[in-house]
Amino acid sequence: MIKIKSPHEIKLMAEAGQIAELARRACGDLVAPGITTRELDHVAKKVITGFGAKPSFLGYGGFPGSVCCSVNDEVIHGIPSSRKIKEGDIVKIDVGALYMGYHGDCAATYAAGAIPESTEKLIQVTRQSFYEGIKYAREGYRISDISKAVEDYTAANGFFQVRDYVGHGVGSELHEEPEVPNFLAPGRAGHGPRLVAGMTIAVEPMVCMGTWQVNTMPDGWTVKTADGSLSAHYENTILITKDEPIILTADKDGRHA
Ligand code: MG
Repeated sequence: MIKIKSPHEIKLMAEAGQIAELARRACGDLVAPGITTRELDHVAKKVITGFGAKPSFLGYGGFPGSVCCSVNDEVIHGIPSSRKIKEGDIVKIDVGALYMGYHGDCAATYAAGAIPESTEKLIQVTRQSFYEGIKYAREGYRISDISKAVEDYTAANGFFQVRDYVGHGVGSELHEEPEVPNFLAPGRAGHGPRLVAGMTIAVEPMVCMGTWQVNTMPDGWTVKTADGSLSAHYENTILITKDEPIILTADKDGRHA
């Protein structure tokens, strides 16, 4: 069942989203050669708990970190560790905050120092694919319209959307219905859930340079591209309305990564 949020719930989700955005920003600002992913994790935890919120991911299914910190060919679910970020690395920060019973969930990809033009393109295409998708994130369209727009834009730029992991509804649970795929499965056009004002979903393109295929590492969490190519991630929690969607993982002035 897809939950439609009340105005009160939406207000709390905007607060949770704001905290998640500020944690994302704090980490993003610190991504540079020499910092460890564990240090980034500590910064995010400090920001989140400083607002009286809880890191959504900490302990979720046994996840040991407050954020997911995935480097280069790691797509998602990277575990914070003593790994030192090197010049030219790209670092994906995925962060959730649970505040007053509601979650905000967001992610972005940050470069450590100088990166090649092709890597910059990967990051920009990933971010823009989110915006292409949310052109259809309003009442009356379907989830599959978002999926198709995200996939089409990505494919037109020569990259691949991961298929094994998808965006999701978000609210009092970190992962709620519906699933929000970043690709259109055969026969899904014109089918699947319709969007209704008051739905809150996390749209999160996960884009790889060389393939959509991924593997989970022996740690049980870290997901890497099957071909070792680079991957980027971008995510916001959004509110569906009758008009343009509202990005909930934004600061008080509406700014976000
Ligand atoms: Mg998510």
